Amino acid sequence: MNSYYYSFSRYLKNRFGGRVHRLSLDGGFGCPNIDGTFSNKGCVFCNNRAFSYFSRHDNISLEKQIASSMSYNRRRFEAQKFIAYFQGFTSTYGDKELLSRQYNVIRKFDDIVGIAVSTRPDCIDEEKLGIIESFTDKYEVYIEYGLQSAHDKTLKAINRNHTFADFKKAVDMTHKKRNIHISAHIILGLPGESKEDMLDTAKTISAMPLWGIKFHCLHVLRDTTLDRMYNKGGVRLLSEDEYIDILISFLEVIPPDYVILRLVSDADKDLLVAPEWMSRKQMVLRKIENEFKMRKTCQGRLYESTCYKS
Ligand code: SF4
Repeated sequence: MNSYYYSFSRYLKNRFGGRVHRLSLDGGFGCPNIDGTFSNKGCVFCNNRAFSYFSRHDNISLEKQIASSMSYNRRRFEAQKFIAYFQGFTSTYGDKELLSRQYNVIRKFDDIVGIAVSTRPDCIDEEKLGIIESFTDKYEVYIEYGLQSAHDKTLKAINRNHTFADFKKAVDMTHKKRNIHISAHIILGLPGESKEDMLDTAKTISAMPLWGIKFHCLHVLRDTTLDRMYNKGGVRLLSEDEYIDILISFLEVIPPDYVILRLVSDADKDLLVAPEWMSRKQMVLRKIENEFKMRKTCQGRLYESTCYKS
């Protein structure tokens, strides 16, 4: 599979020479799109309990989250090194004391070699970036901005309460810092988007100084606005074949050196409403590999001819 796209595992192996696993953490940050600052409804697809195991279990200290995840990943995958991934909610939402206190917990663990911070593009500023940049002397550092789509009409439809311009501003600000990799979280299959719309997002972000992309297939989780829309028949989800087709077309368009942090989301079985095929991730990954073979294609094949270069 790895010869078709530039997987995160390949990147980590090249960089560290051994098995490196991400520890999915909940740093106890909130979200301005939930607490009433921007909105009290959240993004239509968001169920916070789905973010990570620790987002479903309150009051577990970061130290305990890290220690238990490391122990599990050592046993199950023989992992040797770890990246602390602040995934839950908006992981730069808070004052600088809170951010510093939570991020600095990772310094207590010798086998952590990197820190990743997932956030909204409108929840970053020079001061917060300075805190994150302070880790670059010793750690691999990346920040993951939730973009989802480059189309403002889609962002409005899913109640993101930020625009593509916010994402661009965050990327420009981050790019000026040294050694902070920038990744984008992209959702395929958002309401109202055609395949052309999604490929337009691919071409737009291909002209930006990104390092990685994390893909997510729109799926319906229990107790979300999307769940209610879906039950009323107002949402059409991608079939497995459609997702694979659009994903590979997207990968063909982006640069060959963008690191692919994930191809298919992990859907929590207890929370997943639809589509059913999302619960068979390993099978979907095999089909993606077969489709790459059938099409005789790979990531970046069309990049030079399609990118919206400025
Ligand atoms: S997806 Fe992120 S930005 Fe949207 S409501 Fe959930 S935590 Fe907030």
